[in-house]
Amino acid sequence: MKFGNFDIDCDIVATQKYRDYYNEKCECEECGNFRKNFNIYYPKIVEILSWFGIHIMYPLEIMDLGIDRDKNKREYSVYYSVKGKLPIDRIEHIDDEVSFILRNWNIASESYSNTGMIAPYFIVEVLNIFLPY
Ligand SMILES: [Zn+2]
Repeated sequence: MKFGNFDIDCDIVATQKYRDYYNEKCECEECGNFRKNFNIYYPKIVEILSWFGIHIMYPLEIMDLGIDRDKNKREYSVYYSVKGKLPIDRIEHIDDEVSFILRNWNIASESYSNTGMIAPYFIVEVLNIFLPY
């Protein structure tokens, strides 16, 4: 698939089927709010993630960064793992005011590498998500 200026090889079927067993699905209010609202407020981002085979309801981790007083919204980052290999170890991309940082498994620990997925894989970090609460 085409992502920014890169051609990325990934196994969409394996990624779709993957349900991380390493991380419990968090049932707290903030994570519930994320699951309820992410696809409503960021349909374009959710579509991009679906190109990788990512099921948005099954992240490795949802990071709640608290309330942004100016926007009056709650800020989130979220992490997903994808079966495949990036052409370079780290890719940054911005779309629709949301930042993506993709990292191959060998440098995944720069941010979040807590996955049961077996290499080759890469972690998709999505930052600057602002949702009502
Ligand atoms: Zn939570």
